Amino acid sequence: MKVVLQNLTKRYPSREKGGADVYAVNDFTFEIPDGQLIGLLGPSGCGKSTTLNLISGLETPTSGKIFFGDDDVTNLAPENRGVGLVFQSYALYPHMTVLQNIMFPLQNFKGDAKLSKEEMVKRCEEAAKLVQIDHLLARKPKQMSGGQQQRVAIARALVKMPRVLLLDEPLSNLDARLRLQTREEIRRIQRETGITTVFVTHDQEEAMSISDMIVVMKDGVIQQIGKPQTVYDFPVNLFVAKFLGTPPINVFDGCVKDGGLYVGEDRILEVTGLEDQDVYVGIRPEGFILDQDGPMKCRLIGVEVMGRDTSIVSSHDAMTGTQIRSIISAENKVDPASEFVRFSVKPFKTLVFSKDTEEALSYEVR
Ligand code: ADP
Ligand code: MG
Repeated sequence: MKVVLQNLTKRYPSREKGGADVYAVNDFTFEIPDGQLIGLLGPSGCGKSTTLNLISGLETPTSGKIFFGDDDVTNLAPENRGVGLVFQSYALYPHMTVLQNIMFPLQNFKGDAKLSKEEMVKRCEEAAKLVQIDHLLARKPKQMSGGQQQRVAIARALVKMPRVLLLDEPLSNLDARLRLQTREEIRRIQRETGITTVFVTHDQEEAMSISDMIVVMKDGVIQQIGKPQTVYDFPVNLFVAKFLGTPPINVFDGCVKDGGLYVGEDRILEVTGLEDQDVYVGIRPEGFILDQDGPMKCRLIGVEVMGRDTSIVSSHDAMTGTQIRSIISAENKVDPASEFVRFSVKPFKTLVFSKDTEEALSYEVR
């Protein structure tokens, strides 16, 4: 089921007395192709949950429209939209068994949609099998781990055979290992069922790893939509560049002058296509090359060998953050006692942003 958001806006009165209205979602227009998993990504408060609640019908938009396929669902009640919802808290009924919990939404089906007990049990067993808890149907929620409980919640959302599956930070209550495992599971389930899915998270790695496309948001405004790798490689602005990637991109004060790209006083690349101006230069951690004759001279703070990679921590007068993190292959040896370390940089990993607008500027290397 294709989902279309058309100039969707949700404005709330301020929670503070006399404060300005909040545009939780500000003029969203985008199309979620049928069968895809979309990651809605952004910092806390950027409007992710509001967007999801508008799609589900729990919230009504201030203006704009929502379509499921060709159906305008903007004014349709949540129960008539055919959406499955999963939240951060699993909200299972503690006194019911897993089977009863999963079956609960089916018992509300009325008229032609009404199911017999056998049909309901069959549907529940299928949903439970999909999330691999079919051996636990007789248990009560508190006899299960957090990850298993969240699977019950997912099964409960799937059992209705929703047209659209909406997940709001579903992994946030799980510990690191389970989070990793469960996100793979969600991906597998989504692929197997082909249900159009919107997955909300503030965790860029989570969104990048499972989404067909990500939508990066800030203050209720869409910043960029695209394939995770494309958004990582070609962020449209400094905010997006900084939000994606661990360790994060290293940002420097720089300028373009006489065909050179400078970080502070260091001329790091020969470039064309840019006018002389002050800029921010963003260099991804993997964009540094250890090079005795390299143009970038940094003060060495520490060297951390982490198996495959070496992480070099250093500083530079022109950096905007607290320290520079560069990742190089562990075969390269750095003497931790050295005072300085020199780098050259990979052009593809070196991004340039306007100092005024913070928008990305494209350039070519000479
Ligand atoms: P996210 O899920 O990305 O953390 P939300 O969608 O929950 O963000 O919230 C977006 C913005 O809208 C925030 O500034 C939040 O304070 C505000 N907001 C959300 N719900 C309400 C409400 N019922 N009344 C007033 N402001 C709200
Ligand atoms: Mg939220």
